[in-house]
Amino acid sequence: MTQQFERLDEEKVFKDPVHRYIHVRDRLIWDLIGTAEFQRLRRIRQLGTTFLTFHGAEHSRFGHSLGVYEITRQMIHIFKNRNDWDDSETLLSMCAALLHDVGHGPFSHSFEKVFGTDHEQYTQAIILGDTEIHRLLEQVDGDFPQKVADVIGKTYKNRLVVSLISSQIDADRMDYLLRDAYFTGVSYGHFDMERIWRVMRPRNDQIVFKLSGMHAVEDYIMSRYQMYWQVYFHPVTRSAEVILTKILHRAKMLYRSGFRFKYRPVPLQTLFEGRMTLQDYLRLDESVIMYFFQVWQEEDDPILSDLCRRFINRRLFKYVQISKDQLNVDDKLKEAFIEAGIDPEYYLEVDSSSDCPYDFYRPGEEEERQPIQLLMPDGKLHELSQESDVVGAITGKRRTDHKLYYPKDRVLDLPNHSKAKKEICELLHI
Ligand code: ZN
Repeated sequence: MTQQFERLDEEKVFKDPVHRYIHVRDRLIWDLIGTAEFQRLRRIRQLGTTFLTFHGAEHSRFGHSLGVYEITRQMIHIFKNRNDWDDSETLLSMCAALLHDVGHGPFSHSFEKVFGTDHEQYTQAIILGDTEIHRLLEQVDGDFPQKVADVIGKTYKNRLVVSLISSQIDADRMDYLLRDAYFTGVSYGHFDMERIWRVMRPRNDQIVFKLSGMHAVEDYIMSRYQMYWQVYFHPVTRSAEVILTKILHRAKMLYRSGFRFKYRPVPLQTLFEGRMTLQDYLRLDESVIMYFFQVWQEEDDPILSDLCRRFINRRLFKYVQISKDQLNVDDKLKEAFIEAGIDPEYYLEVDSSSDCPYDFYRPGEEEERQPIQLLMPDGKLHELSQESDVVGAITGKRRTDHKLYYPKDRVLDLPNHSKAKKEICELLHI
C-alpha cells in the first residue's frame, strides 16, 4: 500500500508522565484521538478496581493507548534509521497501536464474566462499524479499517507489524508495565526500555534481540512477573472485583425478575436484556456505572444495597487461602451461611489467579507463544531461556493461587451463641 501521509502543519504533543512527551505528526492520528470513541477511554480506568488498593492507580486507558502509540512510533523510527522497515506499514502500525484497546468497557473483566461481552470483539466492531473512527480510517483507503483490525486481531500478513503490538515483548506490555508501576507507586515494573529498543532487530518477520541486550530483556521479564503478583493479582483488588461482579449479577437478576428499582438502570437495560447494540455499549463508562452503584445503596433490595455500600465505601470481603481441591465451596459452609441469613450465592466466591511469566511454544499446547530470540554474534538465533539462567529458572512455570472471599464483618457480627457462627468460624479458621 502506498498512501500519502497527511502531516500536521505543526507537531502536537501531549505531556506524559511515563514517556515525557507523546508526539503526533500525522493528521489521521490526531483526528482519531479526537473521536468520541477514543475520548471515551478517558473515563475507563486502566486497572479497574486497583485504585481501591493503590490509590494512585486512577490512570485511564486513554493514557495507556497514547503510550502504546508512542512506543510503537519510536521503535519504528529506530528501525527506519537502520533501513529495517517497510515505510508503507508505518501509519497502519501506529493506528493499530493507538486503537488496540478501544473496545474496552467499564471494568471490562467483571462485565465479561457476567454478561459474556468481549472487549476484543468490540475493538473490531468499533474499527469496522458505524463509528467516527471507522469513517476516518476509511478515508485512507477502503480496506484500511480491515487492515487495522487484522493487526490488532493478529491475523495481518506482516508478522513484524503484529509483533510490535502483540508478542511476549511488545509496545502494549512495555507501556502498561511502566505506566502501572508509575501510577501505583510500586518499585517493581521498571526496566530500561530504550536499551531494549536499541538491541531490537527485525529478522524473518520477527523481532529478535542482540545478545548484548539480554540483561535488559531479563529485567523486563522479571518486572512483568513481579507486577502480576504484586499489583495485578493483589487480593484486595480481587476482592473489589468479586463484589463488583456480584453487584452486576444481582442487578441483572433483579431487573429480569421485574424488580422496581427506585433508580432505573436505563443505560444498562439492553445489556440486562441481552440485546445491547454497539451504540449502547459506547455510552457505558465508569462514571455511569459508579453513578448506579452510588444510588443503588438506597435500593430496597438488601443484597444490592449492601454490595453497593461495600464497593463505594471500600468495605471489602476478606479471604482465606484454599488449595486446588477446595475449589467447590464446601456444602457445610454454604449451609452455615444460609443458616446465618447470608446468601452464599452473593457472599462466597472462589477466585483464582494464574500466570506464567515467560514461555516458549511446546508442541501440543493450546496457547502458542512466540519465543524471545537472542541474536548471537555469529548470526544464529538462540531462544532466551537457553542463554539466561534467570529466565531459565522461571520459564514455563505457571503459578496459580486460589482464594475464598467472604464478608468477615457479617460473620463476626453474628451473635456469639449462634451455632452457624461457630461453624463458619471453624470451617474458615477464623
Ligand atoms: Zn493495552
